[in-house]
Amino acid sequence: MEISNYLQIKKKLPSNVNLLAVSKGFSCQEIEIIKNEGQNDFGESRFQEAIEKQLLLKDHENIKWHFIGRIQSNKIRRIVQNFEYIHSVDSYEKLLKISNVSFEEQKNPLIMLQVKLSEDPTKGGFSPEVLIEIWEKIQQFKSIKIKGLMTINPKGLSSTENIKLFKKCRYLADSLKLQDCSMGMSGDWEEAVEAGSTWLRLGSIIFGNRTY
Ligand SMILES: *Cc1c(COP(=O)(O)O)cnc(C)c1O
Repeated sequence: MEISNYLQIKKKLPSNVNLLAVSKGFSCQEIEIIKNEGQNDFGESRFQEAIEKQLLLKDHENIKWHFIGRIQSNKIRRIVQNFEYIHSVDSYEKLLKISNVSFEEQKNPLIMLQVKLSEDPTKGGFSPEVLIEIWEKIQQFKSIKIKGLMTINPKGLSSTENIKLFKKCRYLADSLKLQDCSMGMSGDWEEAVEAGSTWLRLGSIIFGNRTY
């Protein structure tokens, strides 16, 4: 693994843009290399894989784990127990369950609500209209802190199209008075920064190509 990409991107980012190192598919050794450069936030999307790495890396006290994968309802308790951030909350039912479980577990996870801004049948998420409609109600949910919105753009868009979708996310977050937008991956992070991302989720551009 080459850390030069990581260092270069880090140097370019405005101070309000956080970098989440998406380590799914990569080993603890690779995580430690970046950890040694001062990276503390790591994102994983497969629950079992993440738990195994957390166990191996448990002596690194300041690592913050972010769950970014599709959430299965039956894993919510263990996600709440083991992750500080959850970026991929894509339905009212799951948010309610996360809140109830967090209360029971005395945890306070930081939440990004996944929004669906384009017709992409492979992606879940709240539609902006629904989110606005239920906003008052979900703000009353206990034990969670809704920090922002998360979105994944479809692959293959032009730069202009990427920026347009990311700006929709930023605009919606602003209108709900939410600080964070978790948006931008290896292929579209520069557009995401331009549109107001506060959390880039970067995997392959810093770790190299995944084998899956
Ligand atoms: C894998 C993944 C990423 C990182 O993807 P790269 O293209 O490797 O940067 C970001 N967000 C989510 C939700 C992912 O599943």
